[in-house]
Amino acid sequence: MSEAMLERRLLVAGNWKMHGSKIFVQEMMAALQTELPAAMAYDVAVFPTYIHLYDVIQQKPAQLLCGAQNLSEHDDGAVTGEVSAAMLADLGCDMVLVGHSERRVMHRESNEEVALKFRQAIQHQLTPVLCVGESLVERQSGQAFDVVWAQINAVLGLVGMEQLAQGVLAYEPVWAIGTGETATAEQAQEVHQYIRSQLAAIDDTIARRIRILYGGSCKGSNAFELFSMPDVDGGLIGGASLTAQDFMAICHQADKLSQGV
Ligand code: PEP
Repeated sequence: MSEAMLERRLLVAGNWKMHGSKIFVQEMMAALQTELPAAMAYDVAVFPTYIHLYDVIQQKPAQLLCGAQNLSEHDDGAVTGEVSAAMLADLGCDMVLVGHSERRVMHRESNEEVALKFRQAIQHQLTPVLCVGESLVERQSGQAFDVVWAQINAVLGLVGMEQLAQGVLAYEPVWAIGTGETATAEQAQEVHQYIRSQLAAIDDTIARRIRILYGGSCKGSNAFELFSMPDVDGGLIGGASLTAQDFMAICHQADKLSQGV
């Protein structure tokens, strides 16, 4: 295992998207209670919908982290339909996704809005998971690095390096999300390494410490190879987080790597 990996615990984060029900939560939490070891050398988190957060927080094993999939960029007030960082923290959330590509594309969230959301999370002691990634067209036209860096830089410009380091980054090439098409481990590593080197030019210590997850059709069969890459610190998992069996298959790979197997 590389020295860098020892500094950063792997994180396996399941994004349930708009899936789930009260029964689903009960069954998944019961399965994870049984399957997740009490002491782990890596972190596991789930991100249910807003309305299932309370049930997950009540029923989850202590070692499982829980986060929301989104939050408002506003403090509180007349913002119908939104949920604030303070509310998520009050409920007992640990983390929150910001800037998932489905929100950037379907809800037209700009880099600036995403940055405001990131800052809200930090101000309320939630760990933001900042999702970044290029579309297929952007990759094919050689813009992947620029797009990803612009997404990170917007947050960096608002909160600075110290606060960026309180979050987690997730590189999710849009062309690999929910498509069954996974970036190769080398493609993922190339972008992760780029992100880390850009950050290192600003602060090497922080760059070495910050976790960068890979997301995009990650599953039990490819998790080991992806997570073995020196700059890949775990995964943000969509489809394969929806059954305990598929999710645990990925956790087992993180477990093996964390134990240096
Ligand atoms: C995601 O939505 O963050 C994701 C990575 O989805 P999938 O694993 O289904 O590609």
